[in-house]
Amino acid sequence: MLNLNRPETAFAINVVRQASLLVKQVQKELVSVALTKDDRSPVTVADFASQALVAKALGETFPNLPLVGEEDASDLRQPAGQATLDQVTKFVSRYASQSTPEQVCNWVDYGAGEPGARFWTLDPIDGTKGFLRGDQYAVALALIEDGQVEIGVLGCPNLAEGYQTDPEGKGTLAVAVRGEGAWITSLEGEDDPLQQLHVSDTATADQARLLRSFESGHTNISQIDYFAQELGIAVEPVRMDSQAKYILLARGNGELYLRLLSPKKPDYREKIWDQAAGSLIVQEAGGKVSDLHGKNLDFTAGRMLLNNRGILASNGQLHEEALQGLQAIKA
Ligand code: AMP
Ligand code: MG
Repeated sequence: MLNLNRPETAFAINVVRQASLLVKQVQKELVSVALTKDDRSPVTVADFASQALVAKALGETFPNLPLVGEEDASDLRQPAGQATLDQVTKFVSRYASQSTPEQVCNWVDYGAGEPGARFWTLDPIDGTKGFLRGDQYAVALALIEDGQVEIGVLGCPNLAEGYQTDPEGKGTLAVAVRGEGAWITSLEGEDDPLQQLHVSDTATADQARLLRSFESGHTNISQIDYFAQELGIAVEPVRMDSQAKYILLARGNGELYLRLLSPKKPDYREKIWDQAAGSLIVQEAGGKVSDLHGKNLDFTAGRMLLNNRGILASNGQLHEEALQGLQAIKA
């Protein structure tokens, strides 16, 4: 059972919920206007606002725990960042009244903590391209202790049942605590019940549904095709942005999730905030997460998973077979 009396768990759920509602407002109010101009500024505003809000709350509630966040405020502090900072402050002040631009910068910079024995890590908006397209994105927060993810929370404002994107819906919140299972509820229905997540029990690869990044540049498409052929996977991969894919896997909407290395960036290393929350959600739902060589993810190497290459996540049953398929790619 999930212990909601543990302060860290209750806090993480609440703060991800708030930040997710905030970024959803930014998306509603700014994105449709910006898309016509090919303008990335809405996601910049949402990124900073989300990190400021989470960092403020974390600093007040757990002052001794560092926050390792994706963003820092150096651009906001430049004269060229003034207009963005004003927008960020406007949105943050809806949730933290009397916010000032200076405070907002300080809150964002609270996320410059060092990864140590016990720390939070935050992706204020995971899936920025999805955010701009109106597809999937997530607010991702995790607590890491001694190199292991202890708590992971994902807020996905646009995620509905199955593979559906519904910007008008209540959104999805998933939470996992090590040893307490993975759970799902709606983002906007604070009183909606938590339901336990379980991965699919499909054990044959030809029935498997494969999940991959929407962005082709984040993976290796020809290798995915080869891998699918090798395993006899019959259906086309599901393309989706962000850690929402980990939720799909955890709730049985897929069996395999691959992050292969893009041929353009063969030395890419995953960032800890991109994988921490989602990986625990899959593990606690009964699945398995490793790198492409079958190694456990190593969260002791700083801001990146320096000791891992790519990611393979699965429902558990198909993990070994998938690792063998990955060997065949390299052969
Ligand atoms: P996804 O939508 O699953 O591809 O995940 C989005 C995340 O991919 C972003 O938060 C980025 O940190 C990360 N990313 C950016 N570039 C790459 C790359 N070349 N390979 C893998 N992931 C990347
Ligand atoms: Mg990210």
